[in-house]
Amino acid sequence: MAYERDNIRSLSPYVPGEQPQDSKIVKLNTNENPYPPAPAVLEAVVGVGADALRRYPSPTANRFRLTAAEMHDLDPDQVIATNGGDELLRLAMTVFCDPTGSEESGGGGDVAGGIGETWPTYSLYDVLARIHDTPIVRVPLEEDWSIPLDFAGRLNNAGCRLALVVSPHAPSGRYESRDRLREIATEFNGVLLVDEAYVDFARDDALELIRGEDAMDNVLLLRTLSKGYSLAGLRFGYGLGHRDLIAALDKARDSYNTDALSQAAAVAALNSRDAARESCSKVVDERRRVGDELARLGWWVWPSDSNFILSQPPKKGPNAQAIYESLKAQGVFVRYFDQDRLRDKLRITIGTPDQNDTLLSVLTART
Ligand SMILES: *Cc1c(COP(=O)(O)O)cnc(C)c1O
Repeated sequence: MAYERDNIRSLSPYVPGEQPQDSKIVKLNTNENPYPPAPAVLEAVVGVGADALRRYPSPTANRFRLTAAEMHDLDPDQVIATNGGDELLRLAMTVFCDPTGSEESGGGGDVAGGIGETWPTYSLYDVLARIHDTPIVRVPLEEDWSIPLDFAGRLNNAGCRLALVVSPHAPSGRYESRDRLREIATEFNGVLLVDEAYVDFARDDALELIRGEDAMDNVLLLRTLSKGYSLAGLRFGYGLGHRDLIAALDKARDSYNTDALSQAAAVAALNSRDAARESCSKVVDERRRVGDELARLGWWVWPSDSNFILSQPPKKGPNAQAIYESLKAQGVFVRYFDQDRLRDKLRITIGTPDQNDTLLSVLTART
């Protein structure tokens, strides 16, 4: 006897990258930062006293909000702390999208009220939309992974309530300009969520869209400590945007959605962001080197503003899947997506110079 709702029964859950436990493995498959978090983060965790654990934490992660607001030159009521950036995505769908029955669930609803996304994109979006039972509208990216000019128009025609744009984009690494994002937000009738999970490795960010005189009232930015701050294990992210959007999200979150340990760690992480910036800039240097080396081996490399690169192996050699398997057999994990437009490519996270050298020497040996 199945008791769950139809959309849950038919759901294919999110498939995370493999998490092998063997520390000898060169793990370049889930876009973690290869450098440790700032020492102050660990000190802050250790410094959380028994009393702070005995009591409930600040429901809104108040110290974190104040710290993030000051750092981004925003007001504290423009910040919401979440259990990883992923919780912000779930909240945004709960708050802005109608659970009218997605086509995939056989719910028979039309496409109005749901999310609009580019294709390809972060695969968690579809899973969350199906859980919420809200329709999904996909707009294929152009050849160069740029967003089509009629993106917002198509979403408006379909009645989408929430547009999800990743910049820098995953899995291509492409940076979308702030001006282009402003155009989309201006034209779109719903809320535009710009997923800036990889912003710490990018040339610039989209903060200006929500700050100052020209601030847009329909833009949310997603931030996470998982990538730039080397804290994927912490589960801490946050949203930034107009205070009315943040207030709406705040109503729908769990009563204590972030815990005392992670709040303390997150405050310390932002306060020691210079250390994080240093590790990001090392990753950016290596991104250039790995890209150049891959190109020298005949791979096609798309320009990336992230901590990974999307790359296509030379046509004459073994295909991407075969290379993925053979790298894995030799203890080097990269990400392969068996998906249209991606199955002839690999997404490679940038590691330490040593890890990258291992990857490159395995690839060189086989060509
Ligand atoms: C990593 C990531 C997130 C958020 O991840 P959390 O670990 O939940 O903070 C959001 N969007 C994209 C595209 C990501 O890669």
